[in-house]
Amino acid sequence: QNSSTPSNNNHTNGLIDGLISPNFDRESCLSRYESALYYKTIPYMPSSYLLQKLRNYEALHKKCGPNTPLYKKSIEQLNSGHSVELMDCNYVVWIPYLGLGNRILTLVSTFLYAILTNRVMLIHATDDMVDLFCEPFPDTSWILPPDFPINNIMQLDVNSDVTYRNMLNKHVISNDPNTKVESLPSYVYVHLSHDIEHSDRLFYCNEDQIIIGKFNWLLLHSDLYFVPSLYSTPLFEEELGLLFPAKESIFYLLAHYLIHPTNPVWGLVTRYYNSYLSKADEKIGVQIRVFHWVRVSSEVIFQQILDCSNKERVLPEIDLNGTTASKTNEPKSKAILVASLYADYYERFKSMYYEHSVKTGEFVSVYQPSHEERQQTEIQSHNQKALAEIYLLSLCDVLMTSAYSTFGYIGYGLAGVKPIFLITVHDKIPDPPCARAVSMEPCNLTPLLNTCTGNSTVEKEKFEQHVKQCEDVEHGIKLF
Ligand code: GDP
Repeated sequence: QNSSTPSNNNHTNGLIDGLISPNFDRESCLSRYESALYYKTIPYMPSSYLLQKLRNYEALHKKCGPNTPLYKKSIEQLNSGHSVELMDCNYVVWIPYLGLGNRILTLVSTFLYAILTNRVMLIHATDDMVDLFCEPFPDTSWILPPDFPINNIMQLDVNSDVTYRNMLNKHVISNDPNTKVESLPSYVYVHLSHDIEHSDRLFYCNEDQIIIGKFNWLLLHSDLYFVPSLYSTPLFEEELGLLFPAKESIFYLLAHYLIHPTNPVWGLVTRYYNSYLSKADEKIGVQIRVFHWVRVSSEVIFQQILDCSNKERVLPEIDLNGTTASKTNEPKSKAILVASLYADYYERFKSMYYEHSVKTGEFVSVYQPSHEERQQTEIQSHNQKALAEIYLLSLCDVLMTSAYSTFGYIGYGLAGVKPIFLITVHDKIPDPPCARAVSMEPCNLTPLLNTCTGNSTVEKEKFEQHVKQCEDVEHGIKLF
């Protein structure tokens, strides 16, 4: 341990005691253990029920994982063309879609769904995902083997014959709960993405979950944090309550369980952190995501950041009238970490704090690890930097993040910090320019609501006890 590395907790077996299985080889994934030395606070501990469920899941995954006899048996079943009752192992296959932020949100959501439905989660890892995440489960693998018989997985979409919706519409299957398992095809594909018009709208309805549960193989495609929507399914209600007494803790706990950067990515994080950030008394992360539909200049967005900061007291305020001398012998130091695809905002911050003193007399330093200029999700080294920056953001004490950005959601979600959202600018700076988050959970940006009939969905009043409108996106919902 480096002397400048924070060590405010005594946890040596990973960040959160008990969350990580003791059956791992430490060296193969340093972040799994070392991250405990870097995070200052732990806002939530897992329930003993969650820990028990995770250990049970690990045993199931080991039993059913790739290349085990039971996996081979399940592949035979898949090739047979129909589902089979009482298989030892049932699977959910995660399909990558969009940027890293979206992917981490769907990995966590799919994993929770796997726990709730006793499925084993395997991931279709494309080349751009090589050497990003460590294996999360001991003595097995979560990577779908390359000889998996469904070889058009990345081409599946809303128009495919195998979506749940299309199979229902074409009467290949029915949603009669008494449907015999043997009458169902060997797998089903569900499309749970932002194009909700075409998505599998019935996924969260009880009676449809009963049918979907009978398929041995489920292929899942999404770009959303769909956990809040799982709260609308009566079938999952009790279990979710037992797993997570604090709704706000779900992403924080599951992401720290599941997502661990590989040693090369962790190297980027720790080198940068120890070189530039560790000595600052306070670390302020500012994540600036400028979406393609935003048509205003960087000057306007920078002004929004300053307006927001003045209102919410985030960044050290500059002294326009003179040069404030430091008021103590040991002035506090503040580090501003900028995460953005562009260098522009970093340059503006740097000039501002070079040219002016701040009213409190603190010393302010400004850092930006990279500026990649554009999203290049297809390139693995680009994704490694993006993941490192998400982690660096998560090591900050205070966070100002961009509305709508899943990249920002992961940063504050891992930090366990309620961020201040910079509201998306359309033509002029919105008033107010930013909003304080009420919970550290990510937003489900495009939820499917009110699609079920009768008692196939949780009552509205009950649902609203856990779920509310997102602070940064009007039509989104989040847990709190
Ligand atoms: P979202 O589009 O903001 O919801 O976030 P995603 O992570 O899903 O997609 C954006 C992608 O653009 C990221 O995964 C990165 O590849 C890239 N990107 C966006 N902002 C940054 C940044 O601040 N730093 C780096 N290194 N990459 C970024």
